[in-house]
Amino acid sequence: MFALAIHGGAGTIARASLKPADEMRYRAALEAALATGYDLLRDGASALDCVEAAVRSLEDCPLFNAGRGAVFTHEGHHEMDAAIMAGHTRLAGAVAGVRQVQNPIRAARLVMEKTEHVLLAYPGADELAREHGLPLQPVEYFFTQHRHDQLQEALREGRMRLDHSQAVGAGSQVVAPLEEPEKFSEAPVFADPNWKKGTVGAVARDQFGNLAAATSTGGMTNKRYARIGDTPIIGAGTWADARCAISCTGHGEYFIRAVAAYDVACLMEYKNLSLEEACRIVVHDKLGPDGGEGGLIGIDAAGNVTLPFNSEGMYRGSRAEGGEPIVAIYK
Ligand code: ASP
Repeated sequence: MFALAIHGGAGTIARASLKPADEMRYRAALEAALATGYDLLRDGASALDCVEAAVRSLEDCPLFNAGRGAVFTHEGHHEMDAAIMAGHTRLAGAVAGVRQVQNPIRAARLVMEKTEHVLLAYPGADELAREHGLPLQPVEYFFTQHRHDQLQEALREGRMRLDHSQAVGAGSQVVAPLEEPEKFSEAPVFADPNWKKGTVGAVARDQFGNLAAATSTGGMTNKRYARIGDTPIIGAGTWADARCAISCTGHGEYFIRAVAAYDVACLMEYKNLSLEEACRIVVHDKLGPDGGEGGLIGIDAAGNVTLPFNSEGMYRGSRAEGGEPIVAIYK
């Protein structure tokens, strides 16, 4: 059975704070990403192609903190992280701190397929993308007003913030040279301005039994000193092997210290736990009590999916062969 699951970030997503029109936008974007991935799997594409395409679709949407909707660094730049991993070969590629690549997940795949490395960072990673002809974008492409406003708030507060998804009611307009800006119902209203998360990810099992995982993020608002989160760290935010494929979202430092994604694989391998049980332990018994708010999506070799989170909500969706798409935001 082929299947896939996607996420668009976990965090404080209160039902009351999302205007119906904005909720519809999120749902539509998740449905579009699911449809892209599902159609590929149905037509015989690999799990790797599926997760890359689903993540690209979310990176191109300004609602999510990845690619076009990435958050701002302290200096007012965008430094994006992404990783991709193939379960059957356990080959992986990742980039950290890229500033120009339109789709960081494509750059991560280049690292995996065109170099002998696993993780490239900063100008070198952009350079690799340029050499291989990936589309690069000027800084204006990555500008969205709500992320800019979030940076101003974070600068006033004087700290780094997890400000990822939940562009609730935010004008997501993008400055020239982009055409039609996204329109939102009204000014930003945040359930908890100090804790909002994003990041996008996908996991899939293809018709041939291969698993793959992909994750992409802009990281944290007001991040400094070339901070890198869990997303591009293989085993922390992203993992795939023959048993499972995992993509995480949440406060990256906790996920790195917990080696969260790989811990799921270990629990399955060494303790013989099911995917669901292993993911539940990592998210609720380990990360949660530590303060590591967030969630993950996982898929196993049989195509079972699980999407646990310990935060208020997580933008998420899944679809299994022959089934209907399922999209959800709240608990
Ligand atoms: N895990 C990402 C990071 O720490 C952020 C997120 O998923 O919300 O960079």
